[in-house]
Amino acid sequence: MSVLWQNAPAISLQNGCFDGLTSVAEAKTHGSLGVGAFDHLDGEMVMVDGVVYRMHADSTAQVADDTDTLSFCMVIPFEPELSQELPDSTTTGDIGALVAEMAGTKNLFVAFRLHGTFGHLHTRSIPRQDPPYPRLEEVEHTQPEYHYTDVSGLMVGFSAPSYAGKIAPGGFHLHVVDDARTLGGHVIDFQDGRNLRIEIQRITRHEVDYPATADFTRRELT
Ligand SMILES: [Zn+2]
Repeated sequence: MSVLWQNAPAISLQNGCFDGLTSVAEAKTHGSLGVGAFDHLDGEMVMVDGVVYRMHADSTAQVADDTDTLSFCMVIPFEPELSQELPDSTTTGDIGALVAEMAGTKNLFVAFRLHGTFGHLHTRSIPRQDPPYPRLEEVEHTQPEYHYTDVSGLMVGFSAPSYAGKIAPGGFHLHVVDDARTLGGHVIDFQDGRNLRIEIQRITRHEVDYPATADFTRRELT
């Protein structure tokens, strides 16, 4: 059975625990598809077909080193159960309902990948932070954002049930890398999707590591 693995609960990252917890090499042992963040929040992570990419703050993508570490990640051995072509002009706003409809439920985690051309793509990549780390939402206000036109690429995401709130990022979370594997980031939104195909996998087992670091164990989590 395919297990969704996380190296920390979402509340860890939300509270500013940005130190790397696990290596890229370890993350790869848990699956082939994933999203995450690096040590010091230095770039966005996407795992595609077992290859881990770091999308830098300038939105360029690079294959990560096995010794790089991740402050947060969600990884699964991706075994899609269903796939579907999506109508042209699909936007990010359609994805949540679409995934729930394909999965037949809002009450399970779902992993998905979405390939096609994104007529307008709006991304962010968080720049490296230094201790004492701020809370995640403070960083998100100052993040560099990018707008691209007609990007052919692959989005990787997870949708989480509403009850999962503090364990996994709420709603759905999408990272993108282009077909040339040269640029990417965290998806804020896209419009005018074309030639889109989505593949989904419902998740019935979820393993979460809880960091025994001083940073996490001594913090007043809010
Ligand atoms: Zn993200």
